[in-house]
Amino acid sequence: MSAPAIETLVGDIAHQQIDAIVNAANQSLLGGGGVDGAIHRAAGARLLEECRTLGGCRTGEAKITGGYDLPARYVIHAVGPRWRGGDRGEPELLRSCYNRALDLADSHQLASVAFPSISTGAYGYPIDRAAAVAVGAVREWLADPGTVRLVRFVLFTDSDLAVYRSLLDGA
Ligand code: ADP
Repeated sequence: MSAPAIETLVGDIAHQQIDAIVNAANQSLLGGGGVDGAIHRAAGARLLEECRTLGGCRTGEAKITGGYDLPARYVIHAVGPRWRGGDRGEPELLRSCYNRALDLADSHQLASVAFPSISTGAYGYPIDRAAAVAVGAVREWLADPGTVRLVRFVLFTDSDLAVYRSLLDGA
């Protein structure tokens, strides 16, 4: 079988036709702005109902729910770290989000997963550093990919896309 693919595009994570989309959630798992708001609006109220049963989520961890009215079958809610200067464990916590999300995809036997740029909006993680963590974590995880055949990074701006592209094209 060929190696799993990594794609990048500019778009809205809530519109992706894929097995699972990853939400840049907060610890409450009860909704928020940015990616979280877009996903909950598009998924409908049943997503929040399921999220209420989960008891929140620790930073660096992830939990999975149905996708309800989304084109995606599942939502994997990952809680990224707030940027606090970079020496409070942020890289390890961000890396853990990507790893835990992919572990959940594999344990649900999913083939394709779309990620937003976790932590680089309201949580203030610098895009260059966050993208390096994201690309590094995904590449390393895909060395032993289980059921996952495709990872798609869905970026919100052309400049974020350029950062990801340069990392992916560079090595
Ligand atoms: P966090 O709180 O983890 O920083 P945000 O949702 O505030 O998460 O932002 C994460 C990134 O996602 C930012 O780069 C933001 O511009 C981008 N973004 C916001 N809305 C969407 C969307 N609907 N689809 C994809 N990316 C989005």
